[in-house]
Amino acid sequence: MSLSQLAKSIKESPTLRLNETAAMLREKGEPVIHLGGGEPKSKTPIDAVVNCTNQLNTGDIKYAPADGLPALKKAIIRYTEEHYDRMVSVDNVIASSGAKQAIMVLLHSILDPKEEVIIPAPFWVSYPEMVKLAGGTPVTILPEDGTFYPSVKEIAEMVGSYTKAIIINSPNNPTGAMYSEDFIAEIVELCEKKGVWLIMDDIYNRLVFDGKTAPNCYRYAKQDLDLSRMVVINGVSKMYAMTGFRVGWAVGNKRVIEAMANIQSQETSGPAVPSQWAAVGALNGLQSMVNSLRMTLENNRNVLLEALAAFDGVQVTKPQGAFYCFPYFGAYMKDSNKLAEFLLSKVRVVTVPGKDFGLEGHLRISFCGTIKEIKEGVDRIKWALDPHSPNELYLGDRKLVRDWI
Ligand code: PMP
Repeated sequence: MSLSQLAKSIKESPTLRLNETAAMLREKGEPVIHLGGGEPKSKTPIDAVVNCTNQLNTGDIKYAPADGLPALKKAIIRYTEEHYDRMVSVDNVIASSGAKQAIMVLLHSILDPKEEVIIPAPFWVSYPEMVKLAGGTPVTILPEDGTFYPSVKEIAEMVGSYTKAIIINSPNNPTGAMYSEDFIAEIVELCEKKGVWLIMDDIYNRLVFDGKTAPNCYRYAKQDLDLSRMVVINGVSKMYAMTGFRVGWAVGNKRVIEAMANIQSQETSGPAVPSQWAAVGALNGLQSMVNSLRMTLENNRNVLLEALAAFDGVQVTKPQGAFYCFPYFGAYMKDSNKLAEFLLSKVRVVTVPGKDFGLEGHLRISFCGTIKEIKEGVDRIKWALDPHSPNELYLGDRKLVRDWI
C-alpha cells in the first residue's frame, strides 16, 4: 500500500497500544491491573454534567466559532487571571479538541520544514511525533546528571539557528517532576533573549503535592504578551478528570492564536459544542473537586512510594505532581520494553516502558487508579522480579509458580 512517508514515520502511541492489549486480556477474563493509564478515576464534575445536559436538552447543537465558544473563552480568560495573575483578551485564547490539538495546531503555526523543537527528556511520548507531523525535527536532550530534567545551560547549548521552539511540561509526564522556580525563570529568559518559542504544557499544573504550587511562567516574562513567543497550554482532561470531553486550550500572542484558529478552522473546527459547555461548567463551577482529586492523588502517590520502598534495587524519585512515578528497574532488566512485556505476560500488570519517554531502564507507573490496584500491582511486580519473594503467588484462584528466577 502506498502510504505517505509521513504516515510511515509516525509511531503508534504506546499507551494506546497498551490499553488495547489490556482490554483484550480483560475480555478473556484475565485479572489485569492497569498501572499504565493516563486519566484520573473521578467522575465528571457535576457543574460540567449539568451544563452539558442543559445544552443537549435544547436539541439545538450547531456549528460554533472555530476557535471556541465565547463563553468558554471567557471562562479561560478568568482561569488565566486567577491562576496566572495575567489578564488576557479573547484574541489571546483558542479552545481546541484537547491540549493535544492545541499543541498540534500551534506546531503547525510556527514550524517551517526541518526547524527544530527542543524537548527535554524524559518527555511525553507524543511530542516528538507531533513535531514530525508538523514537518519539524524533534531534538531531545537527556539530563547529564541522572535527574529528571536537564539544566537550562544544557538546553542553551543545544539552541542553534534551526531551533524554533522548546517544549516544557511541568509537572511532568512521565516523571511527576516539577521544574524548579529558577529553571522556569531562566528558560523564559533564554527564550525571550533568543527569540525562541516557549511552549509551556501546563496540563498538570494544578495537580501538585506537598503544599506546593507550580511556578507561574508569566511571573518571569518581561515581554508584552502580544510580542511574546510564550504559549501556555492547558485543558480540562487531567484536573477535572474530563479526558473524554476533548477540550484544551492555548493562550498566546494574537498573531499566533489567529494562525492557529485558521488552521483549526480548516482541519476540524472547534471542539464539539456540548463538550465546550461542559468545560465552561467545570471552569466556572465549584472547584473543590480539583482539590479532592489532588489530595487523592497525593495519597495514592504516598501508597505507591511506600510499596516501592519495600523493593530492593529499584530507584525511585518522589513525584511532586501529576500522577506518574518513573522508577528505575535497571538492576532487574535494562530493556524497558522487555520488562513491561514480561510483567504483563507473567503477572498481568500493565506499565509503560521508559524507552518510549526517552529514558531506558525505567517504567512509568501511574497512580491514578485505586489504592488496591496500586498495592496489588506493585506486589505482583515485586513477586515477579525479586528473588527473595516466595515461590508462589495467587491471582484470584489461579496459582502462579515462579520458575524464571
Ligand atoms: N500534555 C501532556 C503532558 C499529557 O500527558 C497529555 C495527555 N496524556 C496531554 C498533553 C493531552 O491532553 P488532552 O487530553 O487535553 O489532549
